[in-house]
Amino acid sequence: MRTQAEPKQLSMSLYVLEHVLFTDHDAEFSVEEPAIRGKAPRCDLCGEVVGMLFWLPPRRAAFRLEGRRWGDIVYGPGDSLIVSARLAVAFRKAGLSGLSGFEPVEIVKVSPRTAVSPVSEYVHVDIARSSASVDDTASGLVRCRPERRCLKCGGSSVRRLDRVVLRDGTWSGEDIFFAWGLPGRWLVTERFRAFCTSQGFLINSEFVDAAKYVCPRPNSAASAVDTRRASDRRNNTN
Ligand SMILES: [Zn+2]
Repeated sequence: MRTQAEPKQLSMSLYVLEHVLFTDHDAEFSVEEPAIRGKAPRCDLCGEVVGMLFWLPPRRAAFRLEGRRWGDIVYGPGDSLIVSARLAVAFRKAGLSGLSGFEPVEIVKVSPRTAVSPVSEYVHVDIARSSASVDDTASGLVRCRPERRCLKCGGSSVRRLDRVVLRDGTWSGEDIFFAWGLPGRWLVTERFRAFCTSQGFLINSEFVDAAKYVCPRPNSAASAVDTRRASDRRNNTN
C-alpha cells in the first residue's frame, strides 16, 4: 500500500466527481433523525469551516430511487458517500486509497413506494482530506471573500473557477480526496475513474476533466446540485 504522508507529483489526469441527476440508476439518501453529528472540519491555520458536519454511527438512512434501479453510489447531503458493499470490496482489493470507514448503514426507509428495496448492502465512506492544495492563480479562482486570505484553505469559498490545478508537490497520493481550498468537490485520479468504468459499476456520476472544470457549472443539473449542496452547507455547519 502506498504511504499517504509524503507529497507526490500528480502525473496522471485528475477529475472532479459529480453527481448526475436522473440517470437510470440515480439514487439519493437522507439522514434519518435522530442522528449523531460531529463538528465540521476547520482549517487549522485560520479556523474557517472547510466541510460539512461529520455524520457519525450508528447511521440510519432513507434511500430514494430517482432512476429505475439501485446503483453503486448513493449521494446525500454531506461530504461523505454511501457505496455498495461490492464497490467497497473491489476498491480495497484494487489497492486504491482515499476512502475510509466502510461502516454499515441501516436503510430504514425506501421511496417511492413502488421502488424495490436494494438487494445489496451499502456502507458509509469518508473521503480523505489530502494535503493537496488548489493553486488559486493557476486555477483562475476567485473567492467569495478575497479579503480573507489563508495560505492553507484560501480563507473563503469559491465564487468562480476556470479549471482545477493543484499546487506542485502537495498531493499525498489518494485516489479520491478533498483538496485544501476547494471544499465540496470530490477529486479523483485517472486510476479511480478507470476502476469505476472498467468494472461495470453503476455510478450516477460524471468524471469532469479537472483542466476543464469551471464554476459556476454550465450544466443545469450540476448547477442544481451545487446550489443544493451550498444550501446544505449553510444549514449544516453551525
Ligand atoms: Zn485557512
